[in-house]
Amino acid sequence: MWDTLWVDAHLATMAPGAAYGAIEDGAIAAKDGRIAWLGRRAELPGDAAARAKEIRKLGGAWITPGLVDCHTHLVFAANRAREFEMRLEGKSYEEIASLGGGIVSTVAATRAASAQELIESAARRLKGLTREGVTTVEIKSGYGLNLENELKLLEAAAALADLCNVRLRRTFLGLHALPPEFKHDRPAYVQLVADVMIPAIAAVGAADAVDAFCEGIGFSAEEVDYVFSAARSAGLDVKLHAEQLSNQNGAALAARHQALSADHLEYLDDAGVEAMANAGTIAVLLPGAFYFLREKQLPPIDALRKAGVRMAVASDCNPGTSPMTSPLAALNMACTLFRLTPEEALAGVTREGARALGLSDDVGTLEVGKAADLAIWDIGHPAELSYWIGAPLLRERVLAGVSV
Ligand SMILES: [Zn+2]
Repeated sequence: MWDTLWVDAHLATMAPGAAYGAIEDGAIAAKDGRIAWLGRRAELPGDAAARAKEIRKLGGAWITPGLVDCHTHLVFAANRAREFEMRLEGKSYEEIASLGGGIVSTVAATRAASAQELIESAARRLKGLTREGVTTVEIKSGYGLNLENELKLLEAAAALADLCNVRLRRTFLGLHALPPEFKHDRPAYVQLVADVMIPAIAAVGAADAVDAFCEGIGFSAEEVDYVFSAARSAGLDVKLHAEQLSNQNGAALAARHQALSADHLEYLDDAGVEAMANAGTIAVLLPGAFYFLREKQLPPIDALRKAGVRMAVASDCNPGTSPMTSPLAALNMACTLFRLTPEEALAGVTREGARALGLSDDVGTLEVGKAADLAIWDIGHPAELSYWIGAPLLRERVLAGVSV
């Protein structure tokens, strides 16, 4: 028996094969939360109607895999709208910093917030993602910057997954910024992250991966290298904010540690592309931050394509550089700003997003045996998902075979 059979729909399976892995006039069945059958409706077994406990007719809607947002900083307190406003009123970076702006202000507010406050504010942002079809989300910590507060963030993220019906991967981002209390002792903070925080977080299973901000204004490649070694010894995956504002050879470093992904990549060079291709590291493109910061340097999309590096797309939702809770806006920006094709962009928030989280056995494409996580859309062609800006395209979200 099947639990549910969806018919009168087109499938964009995103599996290899035809464009979008499309199956027009298709059908898909779920049993025990997994995809049990899919194909053309004409090929359904003769007893299909009797085999399904429930049949859902979709009137020509399109079904894609539930979307995967593989890079977010969703959990934080307060926001930086006032800072945004001050910048547009002509205040300098120094003036804003002297008034307590920047990431330090988010860290202070987040440390002062209760777990419940963090869950409530992040749930509103997560709602932005789920109302546009997200069924799997990655959430990074990185605004606590000490063990107690980083654990508070990671635990809030876990509570959100149940509250908002999403699959979750959690990433510990200890090397996000230097906490004020370590202003005069960088090495001590890096050592604390590697030698104390990572083992403690791994011991309680509070994170799946470790990330870092490798940048002139962040942490050096040597510091990241030290922390990644600790992460790998603790059995955690690694991923890296690399080459966003300058070339630090971060992507090559990430590739040496068999990173799942290197993210941003505006300043990635040929050697970095080659290292990523050889290691199978996914390129996570974050057009929201590029847009919000009004960057000019484009990530080397053609070189990535030619080298066969797989490209994911994510919202990078965060208060400082990408206050965006719309995965579909990210698709539009990936196409308009980075010149991805709509098919590449959609693959970026499905198949490749799943790969960037190490979840490609479970989610990211519609294939028999994978989780029945579906997004059902009121569209006439999958390119519409990249084309519209702000249109209410999602009809329904299905997580493990159940409408949510
Ligand atoms: Zn980020």
